Amino acid sequence: MKPAAGRRRLFARALAACALVALLSPGCRRADAPAPARRTRLLMNTYVTLTAAGPAADRGIEAAFRRLEEINRAFNFRDSTSPLWAFNREDRPFVDAGLAGVIRAALEVSAASGGAFDVTVQPLVALWGIGTDRPAVPGRRALDSARALVGWQYLVVAGDSVAKRRPGLRVDLGGIAKGYALAEAARVLRAEGVRSGLVDAGGDVYAIGRKAGAPWRVGIRSPRGGEIIAVVRAEDLAVVSSGDYERFFTDADGSTYCHIFDPRTARPARALAGVTVVAADPVLADAWATALFVLGPSALELVEATDGIEALFVTPGLELTASSGLAPVLELPGR
Ligand code: AMP
Ligand code: MG
Repeated sequence: MKPAAGRRRLFARALAACALVALLSPGCRRADAPAPARRTRLLMNTYVTLTAAGPAADRGIEAAFRRLEEINRAFNFRDSTSPLWAFNREDRPFVDAGLAGVIRAALEVSAASGGAFDVTVQPLVALWGIGTDRPAVPGRRALDSARALVGWQYLVVAGDSVAKRRPGLRVDLGGIAKGYALAEAARVLRAEGVRSGLVDAGGDVYAIGRKAGAPWRVGIRSPRGGEIIAVVRAEDLAVVSSGDYERFFTDADGSTYCHIFDPRTARPARALAGVTVVAADPVLADAWATALFVLGPSALELVEATDGIEALFVTPGLELTASSGLAPVLELPGR
């Protein structure tokens, strides 16, 4: 790899750390109202910031972080305490309500997206090594063998149990786990009595209620420059993005490869620079953001035909296309 590529990767990491989504406008707070509580921790390979207003804020944030720590372990196949560890390495089935629920949701998005979303992509993730110290463009034969190990149809979820119908199948929940983290953090905050708050996991956001009487304003940054290209007015909504700027590498020819794979080709997807999904359900939002990134801008029709999700596509040329249901909550400052 050329030195420039290494520098570019570092830049990409820095950009990912500061997130695609920005919170805008502090809003008008009554002079006597206390500032919301806000705390950040490094979790799930990213910075998670919890913001909450009202008397339950501190207690809620502590409880939500405890839940996020649990999810951080249970949903990470690289953690030996996760049921996914033995599932991936030894084909051992497991019983776990949280994981089974998320995998069931993942399979629904797999079916609805024609397999563009597929949590069994782990062999491709391992083969390309994007985000590791040794990324490489694999040869044809290696690509074919890895692709043969991928197939969401071979995962079986029954109640809270998860098994596989094909030995060697390996699960990576990287495309959906953050959505579950958003959902669970919001659930815990609400259960503790928080009525206004924000969960921000590396730029993937869930807004609880309103901020000072108005919807939260969530800014979407350009995948290329970082400037705000759109604003979503969010109230009890998730705003989740996938993009080629999060983790990628550039080979000796100057071609760039990102960390989201098209399971049909076993290669990184490249039809979009980024896509943002807005949905009431953060799990769906996360899975669909990854799926739409694979499918590209022609998936607009699929978004229009699918209940519960809206999307903003950003092409490599930075053209923006929004689904019709976004209109009531979307501001495009440049237009
Ligand atoms: P996201 O940032 O939510 O789009 O998730 C990207 C992560 O999901 C990658 O780092 C992989 O771990 C995993 N992944 C990559 N391609 C896919 C795919 N086609 N379907 C599901 N998960 C994927
Ligand atoms: Mg995702």
